[in-house]
Amino acid sequence: MPHVVVVGGGPGGYEAALVARRLGARVTVVERHGLGGAAVLTDVVPSKTLIATAEWFTTAEQGPELGVRGEAPAGERRDLVDLEAVNARVLALADAQSRDIHSRLEREGVEIVAGAGRLDGPSRVVVDTGTGVTTLDADTVLLAVGATPRTLPTAVPDGERILTWTQLYGLAELPEKLIVVGSGVTGAEFAGAYQALGSQVVLVSSRDRVLPGEDMDAAELLEGVFRARGMTVMSRSRAASAVRTEDGVAVTLTDGRVVEGSHVLIAVGGVPSTAGIGLEEAGVRLSASGHVEVDRVSRTSVPGVYAAGDCTGVLPLASVAAMQGRIAMSHALGDAVAPLKPGRVAANIFTAPEIATVGLSESTLRERGYRYVTTTLPLARNPRAKMLGMRDGFVKLFAHPDAGVVLGGVVVAPRASELIFPITLAVAHRLTVDDVADSFTVYPSLSGSIAEAARVLHGQSGEDAAV
Ligand SMILES: Cc1cc2nc3c(=O)[nH]c(=O)nc-3n(C[C@H](O)[C@H](O)[C@H](O)COP(=O)(O)OP(=O)(O)OC[C@H]3O[C@@H](n4cnc5c(N)ncnc54)[C@H](O)[C@@H]3O)c2cc1C
Repeated sequence: MPHVVVVGGGPGGYEAALVARRLGARVTVVERHGLGGAAVLTDVVPSKTLIATAEWFTTAEQGPELGVRGEAPAGERRDLVDLEAVNARVLALADAQSRDIHSRLEREGVEIVAGAGRLDGPSRVVVDTGTGVTTLDADTVLLAVGATPRTLPTAVPDGERILTWTQLYGLAELPEKLIVVGSGVTGAEFAGAYQALGSQVVLVSSRDRVLPGEDMDAAELLEGVFRARGMTVMSRSRAASAVRTEDGVAVTLTDGRVVEGSHVLIAVGGVPSTAGIGLEEAGVRLSASGHVEVDRVSRTSVPGVYAAGDCTGVLPLASVAAMQGRIAMSHALGDAVAPLKPGRVAANIFTAPEIATVGLSESTLRERGYRYVTTTLPLARNPRAKMLGMRDGFVKLFAHPDAGVVLGGVVVAPRASELIFPITLAVAHRLTVDDVADSFTVYPSLSGSIAEAARVLHGQSGEDAAV
């Protein structure tokens, strides 16, 4: 029976472990913190649980328009939020999910070794368990060691006022004025959430607009919503340092301006956990950024050593990590393999409104010089959205001008994460806009706008609508 050793028990690692067991291997997972990884313990699960509380307030904003008395004005929200209870719920939920994953792996016969693993050559993993050293000989190794928050030497997190996203859940009180450094997905999600909970928020963005790299129309819409809700968005502003003051923090920007607040969250991306674990010594090629170089079936430069998830830098998403891990095991253990198709990945930004995307983005279509037709339908025209009092959002589709095949889409709406799935199906199965348009949607429904957008694209020629 081949022995698979998985280093790292996040989604890249634990999903792979289950597949490898199903394919008949002996499987050992080495994990230094807790099963579920950063995804479950500090990143995806905690942030989305916090956002669930924030969403409650965003939904309540519609109250007066819908004829409900008793709005909570933004200034008074702070008093309504019991942050200790919110954080206790966040941490309990994360812990429970980690334990569920632990039990599931045990039930499936996966061996779990608690400790820090490192490669000793291509087919041996040495684990420091804290009380000793365990050596595991492997036929296949999967590296799924993830990443940790990037910090700035001039803004050293202290867990009290200068924070990484992993430290937010230790706060006893809602920050009065939170400065968020970094306007990527993580920065935008937390800025939106704390604003909704009643913190004053300043978002420091080094770019022209928030969410660089995302759909431009969606990012512009979200920035407008942020500003309309009272958030201060500082564009083209780069933080140079953050220090504690007597009762808060001072963030100095590279142009010399100083922003004062009660707390600062540093959300400037992650660093792969690949240093000092014997990778280079074993011949595993790393990129300049320290990510493990992999191909589309998760192979590294060393036969028998695979890698999945954030340590590969392919796409920092739990769903992609899990897929890369599954693909690696199918490849290693001789099952049918479908290589990773980054052009089919669905992703969501959990702001209010949410921004969900799938398939090829408009910027990729342009960069590659592909011909395409596109249409954007504002949510405000959708009958269900009107009834729900929703205005901010849209549905955008991209399709091939001749074949009509759906190439990608963007949904900006509350719960866009759920609404994107029909477009995901269309992209995955190469459905045409007519296939989508001919399918029934419930009346009235937000998904009606997806079918409507497909109808708009019916028969549009490249000359009519291609950009
Ligand atoms: C705030 C935030 C919110 C996010 N929200 C979403 C979201 O909503 N949806 C989404 O799809 N993605 C989201 N992501 C991204 C997602 O968290 C990552 O893509 C995902 O965690 C990657 O999984 P992974 O298995 O590669 O790594 P991780 O989840 O980081 O797991 C790696 C594991 O390896 C362990 N490890 C590391 N080194 C060793 C070693 N030497 N020995 C033993 N164990 C080791 C670590 O302890 C860790 O448990 C979010 C990220 C952040 C920061």
